[in-house]
Amino acid sequence: MKPVLFDFTDAQLAEYITDMGLPRFRAKQIREWLNRGAPDFRSMKNLPEQLRETLDGCAQTLPVRVMQKLESSDGQTTKFLLALHDGEQIECVLMRTSYGNSVCVSSQAGCAMGCKFCASTLLGLKRNLTVNEIYSQILVAQWELRTDRFSDKHIRPNGDANNGDVSHIVVMGTGEPLQNTENVIGFIERANSEMGIGWRKITVSTCGIIPGIEKLIEWARPINLAISLHAPTDELRSKIMPINNKYHLQDVLDTAFRFSDVHNRQLMIEYILLAVRDENGDTQLLNCTAEHAEKLAELLRGKNCMVNLIPWNTVDERDFVSPSGNAVHRFQDILIKNGIHTRIRRERGNDIGSACGQLRLNHAKGKQ
Ligand code: SAH
Repeated sequence: MKPVLFDFTDAQLAEYITDMGLPRFRAKQIREWLNRGAPDFRSMKNLPEQLRETLDGCAQTLPVRVMQKLESSDGQTTKFLLALHDGEQIECVLMRTSYGNSVCVSSQAGCAMGCKFCASTLLGLKRNLTVNEIYSQILVAQWELRTDRFSDKHIRPNGDANNGDVSHIVVMGTGEPLQNTENVIGFIERANSEMGIGWRKITVSTCGIIPGIEKLIEWARPINLAISLHAPTDELRSKIMPINNKYHLQDVLDTAFRFSDVHNRQLMIEYILLAVRDENGDTQLLNCTAEHAEKLAELLRGKNCMVNLIPWNTVDERDFVSPSGNAVHRFQDILIKNGIHTRIRRERGNDIGSACGQLRLNHAKGKQ
Protein backbone atom coordinates (compact mmCIF):
# COMPACT_ATOMS: atom_id res chain seq x y z
CA MET A 1 0.00 0.00 0.00
CA LYS A 2 1.38 3.41 -0.93
CA PRO A 3 1.96 5.78 2.00
CA VAL A 4 -0.47 8.71 2.20
CA LEU A 5 1.64 11.82 2.62
CA PHE A 6 -1.28 13.89 3.92
CA ASP A 7 -1.37 11.61 6.97
CA PHE A 8 2.29 12.36 7.82
CA THR A 9 3.26 14.96 10.41
CA ASP A 10 5.56 17.73 9.18
CA ALA A 11 8.52 15.95 10.78
CA GLN A 12 7.62 12.63 9.12
CA LEU A 13 7.19 14.30 5.76
CA ALA A 14 10.56 16.05 6.08
CA GLU A 15 12.18 12.72 6.95
CA TYR A 16 10.52 10.97 4.02
CA ILE A 17 11.78 13.63 1.63
CA THR A 18 15.32 13.86 2.98
CA ASP A 19 15.54 10.04 2.96
CA MET A 20 14.96 10.31 -0.78
CA GLY A 21 18.05 12.49 -0.92
CA LEU A 22 16.04 15.65 -1.52
CA PRO A 23 16.35 19.04 0.15
CA ARG A 24 14.03 19.78 3.07
CA PHE A 25 12.22 22.67 1.41
CA ARG A 26 10.59 20.19 -0.96
CA ALA A 27 8.65 18.86 2.03
CA LYS A 28 7.27 22.32 2.68
CA GLN A 29 6.26 22.73 -0.95
CA ILE A 30 4.54 19.36 -0.93
CA ARG A 31 2.70 20.21 2.29
CA GLU A 32 1.31 23.36 0.71
CA TRP A 33 -0.05 21.38 -2.21
CA LEU A 34 -1.48 18.72 0.09
CA ASN A 35 -3.29 21.40 2.09
CA ARG A 36 -4.84 22.66 -1.14
CA GLY A 37 -6.14 19.19 -1.96
CA ALA A 38 -3.81 18.18 -4.80
CA PRO A 39 -5.14 14.82 -6.01
CA ASP A 40 -1.73 13.68 -7.31
CA PHE A 41 1.90 14.76 -7.46
CA ARG A 42 1.66 15.63 -11.16
CA SER A 43 -0.34 18.70 -10.15
CA MET A 44 2.49 20.04 -7.98
CA LYS A 45 3.78 22.48 -10.54
CA ASN A 46 6.81 23.77 -8.65
CA LEU A 47 8.38 20.32 -8.21
CA PRO A 48 10.81 19.02 -10.84
CA GLU A 49 9.05 16.79 -13.32
CA GLN A 50 11.18 13.76 -12.50
CA LEU A 51 10.30 14.06 -8.81
CA ARG A 52 6.59 14.37 -9.55
CA GLU A 53 6.72 11.14 -11.49
CA THR A 54 8.74 9.33 -8.84
CA LEU A 55 6.33 10.39 -6.11
CA ASP A 56 3.28 9.41 -8.14
CA GLY A 57 4.82 5.96 -8.44
CA CYS A 58 5.51 5.45 -4.75
CA ALA A 59 3.10 7.59 -2.71
CA GLN A 60 -0.43 8.94 -2.56
CA THR A 61 -1.40 12.54 -1.71
CA LEU A 62 -4.72 12.29 0.15
CA PRO A 63 -6.35 9.38 1.98
CA VAL A 64 -9.24 9.60 -0.52
CA ARG A 65 -9.07 9.12 -4.26
CA VAL A 66 -11.72 10.40 -6.68
CA MET A 67 -13.20 7.42 -8.52
CA GLN A 68 -16.10 9.14 -10.14
CA LYS A 69 -17.27 12.71 -10.50
CA LEU A 70 -20.77 13.62 -11.58
CA GLU A 71 -22.12 17.05 -12.39
CA SER A 72 -25.75 18.08 -12.35
CA SER A 73 -27.05 19.53 -15.59
CA ASP A 74 -27.35 23.02 -14.10
CA GLY A 75 -23.64 22.93 -13.19
CA GLN A 76 -24.34 23.81 -9.56
CA THR A 77 -23.82 20.45 -7.90
CA THR A 78 -20.85 18.11 -8.19
CA LYS A 79 -20.91 14.73 -6.57
CA PHE A 80 -17.81 12.66 -5.87
CA LEU A 81 -17.46 8.96 -5.28
CA LEU A 82 -14.24 8.52 -3.31
CA ALA A 83 -12.18 5.41 -2.64
CA LEU A 84 -10.48 4.94 0.71
CA HIS A 85 -7.27 3.10 1.37
CA ASP A 86 -8.95 -0.18 2.27
CA GLY A 87 -11.25 -0.19 -0.76
CA GLU A 88 -14.25 1.28 1.04
CA GLN A 89 -16.14 3.99 -0.78
CA ILE A 90 -17.77 7.19 0.37
CA GLU A 91 -19.53 10.11 -1.22
CA CYS A 92 -19.31 13.84 -0.86
CA VAL A 93 -21.22 16.61 -2.60
CA LEU A 94 -20.27 20.17 -3.50
CA MET A 95 -23.19 22.57 -3.82
CA ARG A 96 -22.69 26.03 -5.29
CA THR A 97 -25.38 28.21 -3.77
CA SER A 98 -26.22 31.90 -3.74
CA TYR A 99 -24.84 32.20 -0.19
CA GLY A 100 -21.59 30.37 -0.89
CA ASN A 101 -20.15 26.93 -1.52
CA SER A 102 -21.39 24.18 0.71
CA VAL A 103 -19.91 20.69 1.03
CA CYS A 104 -21.84 17.70 2.33
CA VAL A 105 -19.43 15.20 3.90
CA SER A 106 -19.76 11.58 5.00
CA SER A 107 -18.78 10.57 8.52
CA GLN A 108 -18.86 6.78 8.14
CA ALA A 109 -18.48 4.20 5.39
CA GLY A 110 -22.03 2.86 5.44
CA CYS A 111 -24.41 3.28 8.34
CA ALA A 112 -25.82 1.11 11.11
CA MET A 113 -28.99 3.10 11.79
CA GLY A 114 -31.30 1.14 9.50
CA CYS A 115 -33.69 3.99 8.60
CA LYS A 116 -36.26 2.46 6.28
CA PHE A 117 -36.17 5.19 3.61
CA CYS A 118 -32.42 5.62 3.27
CA ALA A 119 -29.95 4.10 0.80
CA SER A 120 -26.84 4.62 2.97
CA THR A 121 -27.74 1.97 5.47
CA LEU A 122 -28.66 -0.81 3.02
CA LEU A 123 -25.22 -2.42 3.13
CA GLY A 124 -24.74 -1.84 6.86
CA LEU A 125 -21.88 -0.07 8.60
CA LYS A 126 -18.36 -0.78 7.36
CA ARG A 127 -16.38 1.54 9.62
CA ASN A 128 -15.89 5.02 11.03
CA LEU A 129 -13.94 7.55 8.98
CA THR A 130 -10.78 9.11 10.39
CA VAL A 131 -10.42 12.88 10.87
CA ASN A 132 -8.23 13.04 7.77
CA GLU A 133 -10.70 11.06 5.68
CA ILE A 134 -13.48 13.48 6.58
CA TYR A 135 -11.29 16.53 6.14
CA SER A 136 -10.02 15.34 2.74
CA GLN A 137 -13.57 15.51 1.40
CA ILE A 138 -13.45 19.28 1.91
CA LEU A 139 -10.09 19.40 0.16
CA VAL A 140 -11.47 17.50 -2.83
CA ALA A 141 -14.25 20.09 -3.10
CA GLN A 142 -11.82 22.96 -2.61
CA TRP A 143 -9.62 21.65 -5.42
CA GLU A 144 -12.67 21.38 -7.66
CA LEU A 145 -13.64 24.99 -6.93
CA ARG A 146 -10.23 26.12 -8.18
CA THR A 147 -11.01 24.71 -11.59
CA ASP A 148 -14.35 26.59 -11.59
CA ARG A 149 -12.36 29.75 -12.02
CA PHE A 150 -11.28 28.69 -15.46
CA SER A 151 -14.69 27.58 -16.62
CA ASP A 152 -17.96 29.42 -17.17
CA LYS A 153 -19.96 26.27 -16.59
CA HIS A 154 -20.37 26.66 -12.87
CA ILE A 155 -22.49 29.71 -12.40
CA ARG A 156 -24.00 30.25 -8.97
CA PRO A 157 -27.81 30.61 -8.84
CA ASN A 158 -27.48 34.35 -8.24
CA GLY A 159 -25.68 34.65 -11.59
CA ASP A 160 -22.23 35.28 -10.12
CA ALA A 161 -19.28 33.49 -11.55
CA ASN A 162 -18.04 31.10 -8.94
CA ASN A 163 -14.65 31.96 -7.60
CA GLY A 164 -15.18 31.29 -3.95
CA ASP A 165 -13.78 28.79 -1.51
CA VAL A 166 -15.66 26.26 0.55
CA SER A 167 -17.71 28.39 2.95
CA HIS A 168 -20.21 25.98 4.52
CA ILE A 169 -20.05 22.39 5.70
CA VAL A 170 -22.90 20.01 6.37
CA VAL A 171 -22.16 16.66 7.97
CA MET A 172 -25.14 15.04 6.23
CA GLY A 173 -23.54 12.49 3.94
CA THR A 174 -23.39 8.76 4.57
CA GLY A 175 -23.23 7.69 8.19
CA GLU A 176 -24.36 8.84 11.61
CA PRO A 177 -21.92 11.56 12.78
CA LEU A 178 -22.74 11.05 16.45
CA GLN A 179 -21.61 7.44 16.25
CA ASN A 180 -18.22 8.84 15.30
CA THR A 181 -18.38 11.93 17.48
CA GLU A 182 -14.72 12.22 18.41
CA ASN A 183 -13.52 12.24 14.80
CA VAL A 184 -16.34 14.51 13.67
CA ILE A 185 -15.38 17.00 16.38
CA GLY A 186 -11.71 16.67 15.39
CA PHE A 187 -12.67 17.34 11.79
CA ILE A 188 -14.75 20.41 12.65
CA GLU A 189 -11.98 21.85 14.87
CA ARG A 190 -9.64 21.49 11.95
CA ALA A 191 -11.98 22.96 9.33
CA ASN A 192 -12.38 25.91 11.65
CA SER A 193 -8.72 26.47 12.47
CA GLU A 194 -7.12 25.52 9.16
CA MET A 195 -9.74 26.55 6.62
CA GLY A 196 -11.23 29.38 8.64
CA ILE A 197 -14.78 28.09 8.33
CA GLY A 198 -16.88 29.66 11.07
CA TRP A 199 -18.68 27.48 13.63
CA ARG A 200 -21.97 28.95 12.50
CA LYS A 201 -21.40 27.79 8.96
CA ILE A 202 -21.09 24.16 10.02
CA THR A 203 -24.07 21.86 10.53
CA VAL A 204 -24.15 18.38 12.03
CA SER A 205 -27.20 16.27 11.28
CA THR A 206 -28.18 13.37 13.52
CA CYS A 207 -30.98 10.84 13.74
CA GLY A 208 -30.99 11.57 17.47
CA ILE A 209 -28.16 9.90 19.39
CA ILE A 210 -28.67 11.54 22.78
CA PRO A 211 -25.20 10.86 24.32
CA GLY A 212 -23.66 12.37 21.18
CA ILE A 213 -25.76 15.52 21.45
CA GLU A 214 -24.70 15.74 25.09
CA LYS A 215 -21.07 15.60 23.98
CA LEU A 216 -21.73 18.49 21.64
CA ILE A 217 -23.22 20.43 24.55
CA GLU A 218 -20.03 19.80 26.56
CA TRP A 219 -17.85 20.73 23.60
CA ALA A 220 -19.69 24.07 23.54
CA ARG A 221 -19.02 25.33 20.02
CA PRO A 222 -21.87 27.28 18.37
CA ILE A 223 -22.31 25.01 15.35
CA ASN A 224 -25.75 24.24 13.93
CA LEU A 225 -27.51 21.06 14.89
CA ALA A 226 -30.06 19.33 12.67
CA ILE A 227 -32.34 16.59 13.89
CA SER A 228 -33.78 14.08 11.43
CA LEU A 229 -37.26 13.83 12.89
CA HIS A 230 -39.41 12.51 10.04
CA ALA A 231 -42.40 11.64 12.25
CA PRO A 232 -44.37 13.40 14.99
CA THR A 233 -45.12 10.35 17.17
CA ASP A 234 -42.98 7.63 18.75
CA GLU A 235 -45.12 4.95 17.18
CA LEU A 236 -44.58 6.09 13.61
CA ARG A 237 -41.00 7.21 14.14
CA SER A 238 -39.99 3.81 15.54
CA LYS A 239 -41.46 2.17 12.45
CA ILE A 240 -39.31 4.14 10.02
CA MET A 241 -36.30 4.88 12.26
CA PRO A 242 -35.32 1.96 14.53
CA ILE A 243 -33.07 4.24 16.61
CA ASN A 244 -36.26 5.74 18.05
CA ASN A 245 -36.75 2.56 20.09
CA LYS A 246 -33.63 3.52 22.00
CA TYR A 247 -33.84 7.31 22.06
CA HIS A 248 -37.42 8.49 22.10
CA LEU A 249 -38.65 11.44 20.14
CA GLN A 250 -39.42 13.83 23.01
CA ASP A 251 -36.12 13.09 24.79
CA VAL A 252 -34.23 13.70 21.55
CA LEU A 253 -35.99 17.02 21.03
CA ASP A 254 -35.43 18.10 24.64
CA THR A 255 -31.70 17.38 24.40
CA ALA A 256 -31.40 19.04 21.00
CA PHE A 257 -33.16 22.19 22.19
CA ARG A 258 -30.84 22.21 25.19
CA PHE A 259 -27.92 22.38 22.73
CA SER A 260 -29.43 25.08 20.53
CA ASP A 261 -30.63 27.17 23.50
CA VAL A 262 -27.14 27.29 25.02
CA HIS A 263 -25.84 28.85 21.81
CA ASN A 264 -29.00 30.74 21.02
CA ARG A 265 -29.09 28.96 17.66
CA GLN A 266 -32.09 27.89 15.67
CA LEU A 267 -32.51 24.11 15.73
CA MET A 268 -32.94 22.57 12.31
CA ILE A 269 -35.59 19.91 12.05
CA GLU A 270 -35.43 17.71 8.99
CA TYR A 271 -38.65 16.14 7.91
CA ILE A 272 -38.82 13.87 4.87
CA LEU A 273 -42.26 13.60 3.31
CA LEU A 274 -43.07 9.96 2.66
CA ALA A 275 -45.95 8.19 0.99
CA VAL A 276 -46.69 4.56 0.13
CA ARG A 277 -48.69 2.90 -2.58
CA ASP A 278 -51.65 0.86 -1.35
CA GLU A 279 -52.89 -2.36 -2.96
CA ASN A 280 -55.05 -0.33 -5.42
CA GLY A 281 -52.02 1.58 -6.55
CA ASP A 282 -53.21 4.77 -4.82
CA THR A 283 -50.79 6.99 -2.96
CA GLN A 284 -51.24 7.10 0.81
CA LEU A 285 -49.43 9.74 2.81
CA LEU A 286 -47.37 8.03 5.50
CA ASN A 287 -46.09 10.84 7.72
CA CYS A 288 -47.52 13.98 6.13
CA THR A 289 -51.28 14.10 6.52
CA ALA A 290 -52.98 17.16 8.04
CA GLU A 291 -53.08 15.30 11.34
CA HIS A 292 -49.33 14.70 11.28
CA ALA A 293 -48.77 18.39 10.56
CA GLU A 294 -50.91 19.38 13.56
CA LYS A 295 -49.02 16.95 15.81
CA LEU A 296 -45.68 18.23 14.59
CA ALA A 297 -46.78 21.81 15.21
CA GLU A 298 -47.77 20.83 18.74
CA LEU A 299 -44.28 19.43 19.39
CA LEU A 300 -42.50 22.52 18.09
CA ARG A 301 -44.79 25.42 18.97
CA GLY A 302 -42.92 28.36 20.49
CA LYS A 303 -39.51 26.74 19.96
CA ASN A 304 -36.58 28.32 18.15
CA CYS A 305 -36.46 26.04 15.14
CA MET A 306 -36.78 25.76 11.38
CA VAL A 307 -38.43 22.78 9.74
CA ASN A 308 -36.87 21.68 6.45
CA LEU A 309 -39.40 19.73 4.46
CA ILE A 310 -37.69 17.29 2.13
CA PRO A 311 -39.72 15.41 -0.48
CA TRP A 312 -38.30 11.89 -0.37
CA ASN A 313 -35.68 11.15 -3.03
CA THR A 314 -36.43 7.86 -4.70
CA VAL A 315 -34.30 4.89 -3.72
CA ASP A 316 -35.11 1.89 -5.92
CA GLU A 317 -34.67 -0.64 -3.13
CA ARG A 318 -37.20 1.11 -0.89
CA ASP A 319 -40.98 0.85 -1.13
CA PHE A 320 -41.92 4.46 -0.64
CA VAL A 321 -43.09 7.11 -3.06
CA SER A 322 -42.70 10.85 -2.98
CA PRO A 323 -45.94 12.74 -2.22
CA SER A 324 -47.31 15.23 -4.75
CA GLY A 325 -46.29 18.87 -4.68
CA ASN A 326 -49.80 19.74 -3.47
CA ALA A 327 -49.51 17.45 -0.49
CA VAL A 328 -46.18 19.01 0.42
CA HIS A 329 -47.66 22.52 0.29
CA ARG A 330 -50.73 21.54 2.29
CA PHE A 331 -48.44 20.12 4.99
CA GLN A 332 -46.33 23.25 4.99
CA ASP A 333 -49.38 25.56 5.17
CA ILE A 334 -50.56 23.92 8.38
CA LEU A 335 -47.15 24.40 9.99
CA ILE A 336 -47.05 28.04 8.89
CA LYS A 337 -50.55 28.63 10.27
CA ASN A 338 -49.25 27.35 13.59
CA GLY A 339 -46.38 29.82 13.54
CA ILE A 340 -43.68 27.24 12.75
CA HIS A 341 -40.85 28.42 10.49
CA THR A 342 -40.59 26.09 7.57
CA ARG A 343 -39.15 25.78 4.09
CA ILE A 344 -39.16 23.19 1.38
CA ARG A 345 -35.67 21.95 0.65
CA ARG A 346 -34.93 22.30 -3.02
CA GLU A 347 -33.74 19.02 -4.44
CA ARG A 348 -30.20 19.36 -5.61
CA GLY A 349 -28.44 17.16 -8.06
CA ASN A 350 -31.33 14.76 -8.38
CA ASP A 351 -30.17 13.90 -11.86
CA ILE A 352 -26.85 12.62 -10.48
CA GLY A 353 -28.14 10.35 -7.74
CA SER A 354 -27.27 12.89 -5.12
CA ALA A 355 -29.68 11.44 -2.63
CA CYS A 356 -28.02 9.93 0.34
CA GLY A 357 -25.74 7.07 -0.57
CA GLN A 358 -27.19 6.19 -3.93
CA LEU A 359 -24.00 6.56 -5.89
CA ARG A 360 -22.07 4.37 -3.48
CA LEU A 361 -24.85 1.80 -3.48
CA ASN A 362 -25.10 1.71 -7.27
CA HIS A 363 -21.37 1.31 -7.52
CA ALA A 364 -21.31 -1.52 -5.00
CA LYS A 365 -23.94 -3.28 -7.06
CA GLY A 366 -21.80 -2.73 -10.14
CA LYS A 367 -24.49 -0.88 -12.02
CA GLN A 368 -22.92 2.65 -11.99
N1 SAH B 1 -27.33 10.13 9.95
C1 SAH B 1 -27.55 11.54 9.89
C2 SAH B 1 -27.02 12.25 8.67
C3 SAH B 1 -27.10 11.59 7.33
S1 SAH B 1 -28.58 11.60 6.39
C4 SAH B 1 -29.02 11.85 10.09
O1 SAH B 1 -29.81 10.92 10.19
O2 SAH B 1 -29.37 13.02 10.18
C5 SAH B 1 -29.00 13.27 6.04
C6 SAH B 1 -30.50 13.48 5.90
O3 SAH B 1 -31.03 12.89 4.70
C7 SAH B 1 -31.27 12.86 7.03
O4 SAH B 1 -32.28 13.73 7.46
C8 SAH B 1 -31.86 11.63 6.37
O5 SAH B 1 -32.97 11.17 7.07
C9 SAH B 1 -32.19 12.16 5.00
N2 SAH B 1 -32.43 11.13 3.97
C10 SAH B 1 -32.01 9.86 3.94
N3 SAH B 1 -32.47 9.23 2.83
C11 SAH B 1 -33.20 10.14 2.15
C12 SAH B 1 -33.93 10.09 0.91
N4 SAH B 1 -33.98 9.00 0.18
N5 SAH B 1 -34.57 11.23 0.52
C13 SAH B 1 -34.50 12.36 1.26
N6 SAH B 1 -33.81 12.45 2.41
C14 SAH B 1 -33.18 11.35 2.86
